[in-house]
Amino acid sequence: MTLRINGVSLRIDRRLIVQDADLEVGPGEFVGLLGPNGCGKSTLLRSAYRALRPAAGLITVEGDDLVRLSPRESARRTAVVAQETPAELAFTVAEIVAMGRTPHKRPLDRTTEEDELICAQALERVGASHLAGREFATLSGGEKQRVLIARALAQQSRLLLLDEPTNHLDIRHQLEILRLVRDLGVSTLAALHDLNQAAEHCDRLYLMDGGRIVAGGTPEEVLTPERISQVYGVRAVPRTQ
Ligand code: ADP
Ligand code: MG
Ligand code: MG
Repeated sequence: MTLRINGVSLRIDRRLIVQDADLEVGPGEFVGLLGPNGCGKSTLLRSAYRALRPAAGLITVEGDDLVRLSPRESARRTAVVAQETPAELAFTVAEIVAMGRTPHKRPLDRTTEEDELICAQALERVGASHLAGREFATLSGGEKQRVLIARALAQQSRLLLLDEPTNHLDIRHQLEILRLVRDLGVSTLAALHDLNQAAEHCDRLYLMDGGRIVAGGTPEEVLTPERISQVYGVRAVPRTQ
C-alpha cells in the first residue's frame, strides 16, 4: 500500500479537526477525498506529507511511519500540489519545475544534466513543454496547475497529494486536469469538490463530514443519494447512479 492512514486524529490549536480517520491509497490508484467545505480534507492531506503530526494513529508511506522519516526521505515519497502561493509568481516555469528536484531545501543553486532531463520529461508528461520559458505569473489557471503537477512529478515521489487541483478552472480545463492525473498512473489522493467528476475519474472515493470519514469505496458505494443528502444537506444524485 502506498499510503495508509490508520485511526488518525488531528488537532490544530487543541481543536480536534480530524477524528479516527482510516484511508488507503494503493499503487497507481487515483483516490478522491470529498466532503463539504471545512470538513477537514486539507488538514488530512497535510498530515500525509508530514506538515501536521497526528495526535493519534499512524500514517505510513510504503510501509514506513511518516513521522520517523527524515524531511529528505519523506519528500522523496510524497509530493504535494497545493494552491499556488505568491512566492511562486516570481519564477519561470522551468525554475518552478526544478524546485521539484530539491523539495526539502531552498530552490536549487545548481542543476545537474540528469535534473534537467527529469524536469523536461515532467513538463512533457503534463503537456506543458512549450511553457518552459514563461513566467509562472503569466500562465492561465489550467497551465499553472499543469506546471505544479510537473513539479510534483519532477520530485519522482511515489504519492501525489492534490488539494483541489481543479479550483478556479472552467469545466473543460477541470476535466483535462482530472484526465491527466488519472492517466499519469501515479498513486494520488486528491481533495475534490465535484461529485460527478470524482465518480467518473477516481478509482475509489472517501467522503468526509465534520472531521470524520463517513464512507469509503467505489463511487457507486460511496455516493448514494441518501448519503449525499445527509452530508451536503441537498438532494443531488450523481450521474453515475
Ligand atoms: P476542507 O479542506 O475540507 O475545507 P480544512 O481541513 O481546511 O477543511 O479545515 C477543517 C477545519 O479546520 C475548519 O474548521 C478550519 O477552520 C480548521 N482549520 C484548518 N486549518 C486551520 C488553521 N491553520 N488554524 C485554525 N483552524 C484551522
Ligand atoms: Mg478506526
Ligand atoms: Mg481544503
